[in-house]
Amino acid sequence: MSSDLSVRGLFVSSEARPFASSGGLGDVAQALPDALNAQGIRFERVMPLYRRVVEGQGTHGYTLERTPHTLAIPMGQDVFDADIWAANFNGVRTYFIGRDEYFDRSELYALPHRAYSDNFERFVFFQKAVVALIDGLGKPYDLIHLNDWQTGLIPLYLKNGINGTGRSASEKTVFTIHNIAYQGTASESSMYETNLPGTLRWYPELEFYGELNSLKAGIMLSDQCTTVSHRYADEIQTAEFGCGLEGVLQHLEPPVRGIVNGVDYATWNPETNPTLAANYSPRALAGKESCKKAVLQHYGLKYAKDIPVFSMISRMVDQKGFDLIAGAIEQIMELPIQFILLGSGQDIYQDMARKWAERWPDKCAIEIGFNSALSHQIEAGADFFFMPSKFEPCGLNQLYSLKYATIPIVSNVGGLADTVRDIRSTKDGTGFIMDAYTVENFIECVRAALSLFGDKKQLRETRKMGMKQDYSWNRAGEEYLALYEDLLQSVN
Ligand code: ADP
Repeated sequence: MSSDLSVRGLFVSSEARPFASSGGLGDVAQALPDALNAQGIRFERVMPLYRRVVEGQGTHGYTLERTPHTLAIPMGQDVFDADIWAANFNGVRTYFIGRDEYFDRSELYALPHRAYSDNFERFVFFQKAVVALIDGLGKPYDLIHLNDWQTGLIPLYLKNGINGTGRSASEKTVFTIHNIAYQGTASESSMYETNLPGTLRWYPELEFYGELNSLKAGIMLSDQCTTVSHRYADEIQTAEFGCGLEGVLQHLEPPVRGIVNGVDYATWNPETNPTLAANYSPRALAGKESCKKAVLQHYGLKYAKDIPVFSMISRMVDQKGFDLIAGAIEQIMELPIQFILLGSGQDIYQDMARKWAERWPDKCAIEIGFNSALSHQIEAGADFFFMPSKFEPCGLNQLYSLKYATIPIVSNVGGLADTVRDIRSTKDGTGFIMDAYTVENFIECVRAALSLFGDKKQLRETRKMGMKQDYSWNRAGEEYLALYEDLLQSVN
């Protein structure tokens, strides 16, 4: 990837690795600006200063510095200060919006049993502070890349200013939907917090059935809307997947564009990752068996060469198919398999998983929490990976699984459908795709996986085929670059 484009870009997101992350958005927010910067495009990043960002200094290879900027941010009748911090990581400068009462909390968005009730207010503050920072830095950006609902109001602030007194926006905006299920809605009474002039009726792009809808505003008011796979770009224009915004997307001009996320292969590489018990490659797969032994030992399960290990690493939320696994668990635990899980999220699923581990202590083990090193060790040590999501905008774990020779079992949606090919229907298959979102279908895939595990030659070929797939950021970065070029060259 290379470009003659001279762009100053700002990547705005509510999370980014290695600072603070809860899922795929955090991965993208790290990798995309990194990939673009490596090609000489000057991208910077901005996100909130969560407690985790402060605590992660040193251990995650960055140091925070207090910038001279303290920005006065109106919130209704009040004015609150935003302290601006910064860190350089991988050559990319990241700014952090600090305000303890909003961001100095144990989690980013939600406790296990409930989302923070002031999320809308927290991110209104964040978004105003981002626009104040853009002006305060005194170095105009050409392009602002926005992500998910937490940034959806920024086009309004770029135009109206954070006090509602007007601002001439010269920046082009790209808005990427990473998950349409989270929309950042609030009741009409929250309009006062936005400091936008006028009533909600003045903003048809923000208004949705009498409420404020941040995602809708981002989709409609940015210059180009994108999402993270081709299939998801189609799906969100249907009632089944659009979460109410399908009509908005059907009439969007220019239409929403799908760009499949990339993988940061510098981190996600079994040949080099230092946290693994052994490294391995398509030519020398033996190390994978050592990783299997190591991860089973970590989980307190007994290793047996002829027992396949199925695995899952996931946010434990409705989207990820835990209802399906719950429906199938009795039957799959009768099969000669082991199952290891790493995740955190809703109480209901955490409790459910704890019960599985209690009931089948020799076959099933779980760890509740967010653990990046362990996620690599699971990807390396497992034979198969479950991702039976109800919907999946892109999904990253199936891409990591491919690279780590861990065969994914996925539902037929979104980025999973874009990136996995079913072994049963094509010679160059890389995984198993459920025909339908049913317990029966899921169990059928597990059985098919078991029989593949018994066929060592095909197993090896399938693993190698997976490892050969290239979902690097070079490809995705090039697509974003082309999109930025088009936008910056367009007159409007
Ligand atoms: P989503 O963004 O919906 O959570 P993705 O598959 O796109 O799903 O991305 C999930 C990312 O978060 C992956 O990098 C995955 O490894 C990571 N992840 C999710 N849960 C955990 C966890 N408990 N511990 C470590 N990493 C996790």
